[in-house]
Amino acid sequence: MIIAKDVDKIYPNGCHALKKVSASIKKGEVVVIIGPSGSGKSTFLRTLNQLETISSGSIVIDQVDMYGKNTNINKLREHVGMVFQSFNLFPHKSALHNVMMAPLKVSKRAKSEVEEHAKALMKKVGLAERMNNYPSQLSGGQQQRVAIARALCMKPKIMLFDEPTSALDPEMVGEVLDVMKSLAKEGMTMVVVTHEMGFAREVADRVLFMEDGELLVEDTPDKFFHNP
Ligand code: ADP
Ligand code: ADP
Repeated sequence: MIIAKDVDKIYPNGCHALKKVSASIKKGEVVVIIGPSGSGKSTFLRTLNQLETISSGSIVIDQVDMYGKNTNINKLREHVGMVFQSFNLFPHKSALHNVMMAPLKVSKRAKSEVEEHAKALMKKVGLAERMNNYPSQLSGGQQQRVAIARALCMKPKIMLFDEPTSALDPEMVGEVLDVMKSLAKEGMTMVVVTHEMGFAREVADRVLFMEDGELLVEDTPDKFFHNP
């Protein structure tokens, strides 16, 4: 589903954030990326939907070369959902409207179909009773679950998570991880940057360990967490 080959990223300020990173992620796989702060995890994730361009190397997603001449990057991006540390919901729109907005804007789907889908997703993330609430009326954990529903409403083939629980109070981390676990169980292809080692052990098919811009270790959680 994703094949990254020799990806280098040098930021305009000269920071060499990714050094020949190669990784492939199969359909239905859950890959967790860990490593110290500043090691390039977030940069790598962001190159996968071209929030960051790469300096050299290649990234192929669902058999489409992201940097191909004829590639419609916006089209490709629609298939890649992303959830960030901050939820970035629109404050003046209800939770349900937040979920519906992107597909209404970029797809040709009928409003009624999008609405039904959005309602089903709100139910799936455990917020059926909260659809009409505004973000300020929701806890951090609830807002992050809305953000997950919002990404899913685009019918992505891949979901990227960049430290989705890092901004949450500890008691809300579990409810967000539970939603992610159920997505994983349903076979969603997921790439997750997180410090939640329990999640990595339990849910990941593979763990990637990054340090100083390099992908140093790639292993199953069983093997990875055995090696100190
Ligand atoms: P973070 O600071 O991002 O939370 P750590 O650097 O503490 O992550 O590492 C998390 C896990 O990775 C720990 O279980 C640790 O034992 C393991 N680990 C750390 N460094 C390496 C390494 N060089 N090779 C393999 N595993 C490592
Ligand atoms: P991580 O997610 O592992 O904490 P990042 O991908 O955020 O690491 O950062 C990797 C390196 O790239 C760091 O040295 C960071 O300072 C640098 N970096 C990140 N974003 C930018 C940017 N927009 N401009 C310049 N340097 C950046």
